[in-house]
Amino acid sequence: MARGTPQFICQSCGAVYNRWQGKCDACGAWNTLAQEASAPPVPVPGASRAGARSKGRVFPLEGLQGASLDAPRVASGIGELDRVTGGGFVPGSVILIGGDPGIGKSTLLTQASAVMARAGHRVAYISGEEAVAQVRLRAERLGLSDAAVELAAETNVEDIVATLSHGPTPRLAIIDSIQTMWTGSVEAAPGTVTQVRGSAQALIRFAKTTGTTVILVGHVTKDGQIAGPRVVEHMVDAVVSFEGDSGYHFRILRAVKNRFGPTDEIGVFEMTGRGLAEVANPSALFLAGRDLSAAGTAVFAGMEGTRPLLVEIQALVAPTSLGTPRRAVVGWDPSRLSMVLAVLEAHGGLKLGQHDVYLNVAGGLRITEPAADLAAAAALVSSLAGLPLPADCVYFGEIGLSGAIRPVAQTPARLKEAAKLGFNRTVAPPAVRNQDETAPLVVTTTGHIADLVARIAAQPRVEGNRPGLARR
Ligand SMILES: [Zn+2]
Repeated sequence: MARGTPQFICQSCGAVYNRWQGKCDACGAWNTLAQEASAPPVPVPGASRAGARSKGRVFPLEGLQGASLDAPRVASGIGELDRVTGGGFVPGSVILIGGDPGIGKSTLLTQASAVMARAGHRVAYISGEEAVAQVRLRAERLGLSDAAVELAAETNVEDIVATLSHGPTPRLAIIDSIQTMWTGSVEAAPGTVTQVRGSAQALIRFAKTTGTTVILVGHVTKDGQIAGPRVVEHMVDAVVSFEGDSGYHFRILRAVKNRFGPTDEIGVFEMTGRGLAEVANPSALFLAGRDLSAAGTAVFAGMEGTRPLLVEIQALVAPTSLGTPRRAVVGWDPSRLSMVLAVLEAHGGLKLGQHDVYLNVAGGLRITEPAADLAAAAALVSSLAGLPLPADCVYFGEIGLSGAIRPVAQTPARLKEAAKLGFNRTVAPPAVRNQDETAPLVVTTTGHIADLVARIAAQPRVEGNRPGLARR
């Protein structure tokens, strides 16, 4: 296709079409096709010379054995950030950080750049969103004005690369945001998928050739995707999402993709007047403000990566006024809830067909572990029966379709965290023992969902918690 011929590119996934259509066949998104001038061939280093040369360069091949250097890392100085990246920034790596507008991405990166600059590294912060004065104001508010961060409000990638290549190599360069960047190497309007991709390519090449760690800020769309091309996600070394509910003070940093580290670790921060503070004990934070006497809540002893995390699961089971009962879930997989409900009906003897069911993970946390099944089931049964669960008890275990409770990984860490936070009891899958003699944690094992239901039904009833009391 000739350069400059118009073509239609999906702004969500980057698929290219010759004519406009309402739906992208590649990713299924509607109204995402936008007209752009055709992109030049993807620039490959050395490609222009390769065309003129018929023979390739001969390079030495090496064996599997040999000296292999562990990627040297530069710690950011912010422990929770380093936990997510896998122990610090790898030189020459490119990290894409996504999150809702206003969630605190710029605050986090301003803090990280200031801490690194104070440690003596050259750090550049390029803002395409805000004027230099605005970035300065934020730094002042955070008490970081004294840090020697190099600031600029620029959007042209060629200018940025030329500036950063001048003088000593920066340890860290922050580009806020990739959607505002443009490159002269492609003929497309700024903000389009072609421009974003072209800009990202140029910045990645800069990172790889100089060893600078580049952090790209990306905006997130309503459905949680990093807006613009998903192709950028494939190009970078790590994709990190910064999550949180504006109704809560804490924020969670989560690695979605990481070539140099784990993807199951999370970093927990609390938004304070002085910026983002690291949360050393997330369990205490997520359990704060718990109503101990209410029916329908259970504490789940979960794991996020290598760190145990206790979190409250809340359930509300109430008679429905609709023909089809409602099933709503926040912070957990809806299909997992459906499965637990089906098992409770089939093997637990519960009748839920005439009940609305709501499930919520308190604090706005998102749980992906199947080990949460048992805690969710306990909360559901507790709500249906109107019987509060013991306040000093934690739950974990996976529920199978047969109703059997299955063991889960990292049991000792879960028990240790529960004991540390003052819990005295746990309901766990079969064969779980408390190995730690010093922890006064009583383990009750349960092998089947029917056993769990019978156990909860045997709880003492508390007046005022009966279902139906609120019914008119
Ligand atoms: Zn698409």
